[in-house]
Amino acid sequence: MNLRRSLQGLFLAFFFLLFFTAPTSISLFLPPELFLRADPLAAVVVVLMASSVAWVFLPAAVLILSGLLMGRAFCGYVCPLGTILDVGARLARSSRSEPLWITRRPALPLGLLGLVLLCALLGFSLLAWFDPLVLLTRSTALLLQPWLMEAGSALLELVRPWASKKEWFWLSDAGLQVPRFWLSALSLLWMGAIVAFSLWRARLWCRAFCPLGSLLGLLGRFSFLARSVSDSCLDCGACQKACPVGAIGQDPRQTSRARCLLCARCKEACPVEAIGFVPPMRSPSSASRENSPRLSRRGLLAVGAVGLMAGLTVRVDAGRASPRDRLIRPPGAVPEALFLDRCLRCGLCMSVCMSHTIQPSLWEAGLDGIWTPRLDLRLAPCEKHCNRCGLVCPTGAIRPLSMEERTHAKIGTAILLKERCLVWEQDKTCLVCDEICPYDAIEFKEVEGKRRPFVTESRCNGCGYCEHKCPVQGQSAIVVTRMGEIRLEKGSFLEEAHRRGFIFEGSREQAPPALVPQPLEGDLPPGLLRP
Ligand code: SF4
Repeated sequence: MNLRRSLQGLFLAFFFLLFFTAPTSISLFLPPELFLRADPLAAVVVVLMASSVAWVFLPAAVLILSGLLMGRAFCGYVCPLGTILDVGARLARSSRSEPLWITRRPALPLGLLGLVLLCALLGFSLLAWFDPLVLLTRSTALLLQPWLMEAGSALLELVRPWASKKEWFWLSDAGLQVPRFWLSALSLLWMGAIVAFSLWRARLWCRAFCPLGSLLGLLGRFSFLARSVSDSCLDCGACQKACPVGAIGQDPRQTSRARCLLCARCKEACPVEAIGFVPPMRSPSSASRENSPRLSRRGLLAVGAVGLMAGLTVRVDAGRASPRDRLIRPPGAVPEALFLDRCLRCGLCMSVCMSHTIQPSLWEAGLDGIWTPRLDLRLAPCEKHCNRCGLVCPTGAIRPLSMEERTHAKIGTAILLKERCLVWEQDKTCLVCDEICPYDAIEFKEVEGKRRPFVTESRCNGCGYCEHKCPVQGQSAIVVTRMGEIRLEKGSFLEEAHRRGFIFEGSREQAPPALVPQPLEGDLPPGLLRP
């Protein structure tokens, strides 16, 4: 195995290691969101939109430096998505790199980069759709992790009888809570298209679209390493065929430094060893000739027009008179406008959530909010003793909180829908919400000679245990709304909760399971275990 493949394998393994150790107590002394924090494109976009968080992207300085020194070497040796595309192309035995209509437009990725930056300036983010590290992190969270856990669960079922015969109860009693995400189909479609196209033409995504690669390519125009071709070149064209990103022009001595990955495949393919990688000033004059893409005036106008149209659509959508009062964000989320600016839509918070109540939004948060995390409290409650989402969020869109602060980061208030409630509407006996509430926020009061449930607003934290456990079929008779939520960019949630008169010291931790009826079949997506 050559050096490039070994490095690609190592970085891919490192990416997954960081991702899968995030929800566990295994500490690698490195943040699980390291790849995202080292992403210069995410850094530029988030800083343009919410300048206050520039410091979290300090690791991006390493990639910017590497771009300045070695251009797109990151794409050839480090990028985990690039490695997956290479592996896919290898398995599909597709090393075809002949140009297509789309790859004959070298300015296309440059235009896409321009569009991403213009949209950031106009106040909305396209990272969720086009940043390779965000895309891969989210696909791992929404697709790969659930599939792996499903496989683990099936394996457990297989070994369970054998383990219980051996009295290995730690194994026979073990279970896995497999997460299900509503938007995994959209994720599969988008990621599947990127991978499928790259099976057809090697690295099609990297050469025709990737804006991060394009940014590194721009920096790489000044890099200190460039492809050099000596006079022994036979003009056989082997290097052009081997190059996965079409960085070699009609003349094999011509190289686009903005596209070249420094992967050295051309060097491996050359029959007369005419190719080397040297500082540009040391290359023979013929080799330093560039065929780098530039954005024409027409291209610039097109980017401007598409960006303005997209900006206008998002603004009109944001201005729609929609209360969106059921849009519950994770505890510790900063105020909504800032949240939308900071959130990368990476899905890390969804992957570590203990109860898997954090789901990606579709239209609930508007066009600008697609893929942002929201809580589906009918699906599962927000665990009182979990603060993982804030600990892994790379940009502080969800603030990292101590357990005490997290308890006081109120996410909403439950309201009773009397017309659905069994006690109010049908005079039946039901104590579920009262028994399950960990904050003791449900009170029964005498109304016209009958005891009826009421929500004490000052005690309700919005955790959603009541909404999740309510035995009414379909929509719950008690739902959590954004009313009373505490969203702070800085400062203490505890102090703010006290200032507003909230009391979250529950009189019981959780109701005994025997008192808790299970929701009816069909209320949970298949595979989600009931606690
Ligand atoms: S809020 Fe969630 S999806 Fe958004 S950046 Fe933070 S971890 Fe990623």
